[in-house]
Amino acid sequence: MNNVHQVMGVYFHIPWCDIKCAYCDFYSIPKKNVTLEEWQDYLQKVQKDFESKKDYFQKNRRVVSVYFGGGTPSKAPPFVIESLLSLVQKNLSTAANLEITLEVNPESAFESHIKEYATAGVNRIHAGVQSRHWESLRYLGRLNTEASVLTLFQKIQKAGIKNYGMDIITGIPGQKFSSIQEDLQWGISEGVSHISSYSLMYEEGTALKRLVDNHRKKKASTRRQQLHFDLVRQFLEAQGYSQYEVSNFALPGKESIHNLIYWKYRPYLGVGVSAHSFTGFEKNYRMETLPDWGIQLEKGDAEVDPWIGHFRLRGPQNFMRSLRLLDGGQRELYIRKLQNLEEAGFLQKSKSGLYQLTDSGIKFSDSMLLEMGK
Ligand code: SF4
Repeated sequence: MNNVHQVMGVYFHIPWCDIKCAYCDFYSIPKKNVTLEEWQDYLQKVQKDFESKKDYFQKNRRVVSVYFGGGTPSKAPPFVIESLLSLVQKNLSTAANLEITLEVNPESAFESHIKEYATAGVNRIHAGVQSRHWESLRYLGRLNTEASVLTLFQKIQKAGIKNYGMDIITGIPGQKFSSIQEDLQWGISEGVSHISSYSLMYEEGTALKRLVDNHRKKKASTRRQQLHFDLVRQFLEAQGYSQYEVSNFALPGKESIHNLIYWKYRPYLGVGVSAHSFTGFEKNYRMETLPDWGIQLEKGDAEVDPWIGHFRLRGPQNFMRSLRLLDGGQRELYIRKLQNLEEAGFLQKSKSGLYQLTDSGIKFSDSMLLEMGK
């Protein structure tokens, strides 16, 4: 088998944010002051969640990326990040050049915390900038100000972290082309190696969607959103950032390992409220709210999609994900699917190197063919 030391990622979800941004449809709990007891309780539950899943990932896997996402991970006291990283180091095989990313929001970027995250091992920061212009920040219902954004990268640099990137949002009504260009130019001059650029979405259930539906806020036209996107692409490519995925641009060698794990259909262990995991042929879901997740952990009844359900129902979704990659993702996807089926015991390699159905595979051959043909 050629899956010895297959690469994998680990994701930790940190659920709290200072406020709820108007456009956000992630699971996040708005709370300015999270108490020490709440952090300790969450840490304990995350450790339990990790323990309950780690066995699925210990064999022939090597962790190449750990990612703290949210929510706002930069709200977490450093001991939380340190404890979670030591959990990974103690229980899983990790690569020597492990990428450890933590998402930071400008308003909760404390210099002392960033230094301690770096000491704990964090070597990559992804900053939720979105815009430096107050009109756009106000439209998005963001808490960060131009001032908090402007000092952000200095703090990261002072902590000795050299690899950092940022998110921006375009397609905001009233957003000028020159503002987008200024944001990008500013990020580049601050040394960002990676930029994720998203067109504003109006997701069901968000405050922004309600405001637009009630005609209290305007929406940018699709044409304008497309023009914004074209501007970002042309501007960044001219500056040496290549578009390696629809919304993601990076300097050579600075592509996000964490994102590539998702898009290339690699396994990942997701831990924390609302996080899901993928073993390579099974998907495991965690409950979407803190109380429900706590109950689920107590009962120990994680929801698991058997591999066949996963492929039949989520195959198109995963295939679309691979199509987003701009480097021949389809081929990678097919290879990965074959390797996963081989690992699950449904396929075996013949002497001539061709794949054959095993006895178990014969029973599920229709579904397997259906999946591979998608
Ligand atoms: S900071 Fe991010 S996760 Fe938190 S509410 Fe805003 S968009 Fe959502």
